[in-house]
Amino acid sequence: MNKSDVLEYLKGVSEEVKELSLKVWNNPETSGNEKESSNLFKEILKSYGFEIKEVRGMENAFIGEYGSGSPVIAVLGEYDALPGLSQSLDTKFNPVEVNGPGHGCGHNLLGSAALGSVLAIKKYLEETKINGTIRFYGCPEEETLIGKVKMIKAGAFDGCDLALSWHPMNANTAIERGFLSNNSIKFKFHGISAHAAQSPESGRSALDAVELMNVGANYLREHVIDSARIHYTITNAGGAPNIVPKEAESWYFVRAPYRKDVEEITERLFKIAKGAAMMTETTVEYEVLGGCYEMLPNKVLFDLTHKNMVEIGSPTYTEEELRFAKAIQETLDPNMVEAEIKKFISSDSDEKIYIHQKVLEKENVNSVVVSGSSDSGDVSWIMPMNLFLTATWPLGVPAHSWQATSSSGSSMGMKGMIYAAEIFSGMMYDLLNDPKLVEEANAEFNKRTEKRKYVSPIE
Ligand SMILES: [Zn+2]
Repeated sequence: MNKSDVLEYLKGVSEEVKELSLKVWNNPETSGNEKESSNLFKEILKSYGFEIKEVRGMENAFIGEYGSGSPVIAVLGEYDALPGLSQSLDTKFNPVEVNGPGHGCGHNLLGSAALGSVLAIKKYLEETKINGTIRFYGCPEEETLIGKVKMIKAGAFDGCDLALSWHPMNANTAIERGFLSNNSIKFKFHGISAHAAQSPESGRSALDAVELMNVGANYLREHVIDSARIHYTITNAGGAPNIVPKEAESWYFVRAPYRKDVEEITERLFKIAKGAAMMTETTVEYEVLGGCYEMLPNKVLFDLTHKNMVEIGSPTYTEEELRFAKAIQETLDPNMVEAEIKKFISSDSDEKIYIHQKVLEKENVNSVVVSGSSDSGDVSWIMPMNLFLTATWPLGVPAHSWQATSSSGSSMGMKGMIYAAEIFSGMMYDLLNDPKLVEEANAEFNKRTEKRKYVSPIE
């Protein structure tokens, strides 16, 4: 069996992979509730002879393992959906369930591509009897940025040599740097309730403290690095206006390209919270809900990813798929779409493209900024990890939108998914046949983490 035989075998199982992806898409389960989705993945892996291992304390996380000896390759799969992004397979806004959940981040594709690739490599290991272990990681709770952080804590990744990851998006590209590091924190203020008209002097408003903290945080913005992001909501603002609010709560995200900046800004935010409490004579307690790291680059794996993306070549589309993409694109702000297209064609061209159909050249990969956060970042700090994107959504479609949900259930999305499965398979084939690649990726990882070690963001 050579590489093209592996890819040929993958083609043979691709209908099953698509079917899985559609089942998950049709039954969107949000973070922490992925019971049926994780079971679907487990069932297929079991039927192909993978050994299923549980992850301590996490019902919807698991490992499907096949093979023996080294290298031990982890392939990261996710399957959680997002609240409020329900959408049918349509080119206009048309939710299946009003305000219901939907796969607006394409994790139905994400997990299924990863699964397809391990089925193909399992066949290869079985036929050739060469050394090597593949592990499909069923990773829940990505949208709440905590699943893999908890899995690392539970030791689920112990013994792996490297990890492979991808994400559905609107372009085909290997990613060298990505994800913002993040902290998610709730601030609970406690005051004293009183009649707001009759005896306001005996009340101490927890809501005042929340508001003053927000004022402080908004002033802080001017004195942090440009690339930092601070966002908040008020999750409890008290009850009736005629009662001085005894309890109030805000929820903050702090993000920045590097973990050290997130930690530093978080410390300053704590001071602001204490200041707000002092001003209002209330008390404050905070709860760190989660946190995650930025992605640690790995040049060896980046090069290997790019090589396989080019070698395999991006998919081609039918007229119908292009029409679908065009119709979806037309629902978006045209200026935003144009700006997005400009990233991928020469600036003096007026060409209209609906789907990205090339692989971005290495020197241009930094034009695609992965500015969200992901708990996959944490995995890149405990072993070498790659990241790539494929075009599963029309150009201009943002993640976490109904357009992304619709595209993730379309044949366009399926093509990007199968392409991703091919890239993973090609990479694993190379890694199994060239132990030096694994060694070099690890040597680079060891060098990069020599002075900065991973410290779990959660207790
Ligand atoms: Zn996602």
